[in-house]
Amino acid sequence: MQETPSPGRARVLLVEDDPAIARTVCYALERDGIAVQHSLQLADARAQWRAQPHDALLLDVGLPDGNGLDWCRELRAAGSAVPVLVLSARGEEMDRVLGLELGADDYLSKPFSPRELVARTRALLRRARHFAAAAPTQPGGVFSIDAQGQRVHMHGLPLDLTRREYQLLRCLLERPGRILSREFLLDSVWGQDSESTDRTVDTHVKTLRAKLRALAPRQDFIATHRGMGYSLNLPD
Ligand code: CA
Repeated sequence: MQETPSPGRARVLLVEDDPAIARTVCYALERDGIAVQHSLQLADARAQWRAQPHDALLLDVGLPDGNGLDWCRELRAAGSAVPVLVLSARGEEMDRVLGLELGADDYLSKPFSPRELVARTRALLRRARHFAAAAPTQPGGVFSIDAQGQRVHMHGLPLDLTRREYQLLRCLLERPGRILSREFLLDSVWGQDSESTDRTVDTHVKTLRAKLRALAPRQDFIATHRGMGYSLNLPD
């Protein structure tokens, strides 16, 4: 499961508490061949997103249990690159800049025409497809690397990694099953940085492991080979 468009129908999540607007949007998108899930509030939206990430999000700003922009910011902070279109109410023009600053990809202010909405959604999905095509996916299907955004998803969930952790994981993922020495990892990830030692590698492997275990407690992807180094093992 990945946060990328499936080869079939695109799936979007609409978070909108105005039932009339939601009906119009759902109807327009479905008629255009896009599958829509609809949530009236953020809590429900988050649950749907966790169950299966969508190809794009259409977020209202003012919602009964919070602000759509806050969720957008959280998703970005967690490393998600899902396309986000913000739908804002009349008189919320100031949200435009804010929305884009918080990581939204596009913005549409109400009232909007259903045609305009479909066109903007299609544009977002096209961009996401292009982006997904550039991201190599591991054969095991557990991890997907977004090289452009320097992010890794595990089981479709974004990992919150530091730059070094990302580079380290990527280095291991590109050579599944192979034992990589600390010297090799130091050279590949830290380069000529003279501050770094074998201990640096061990420390980063430890934090990386903890982050992987937080999402998949029963799986141990990184194996330690005493006196030799580390390997990353993908399930068959
Ligand atoms: Ca609203």
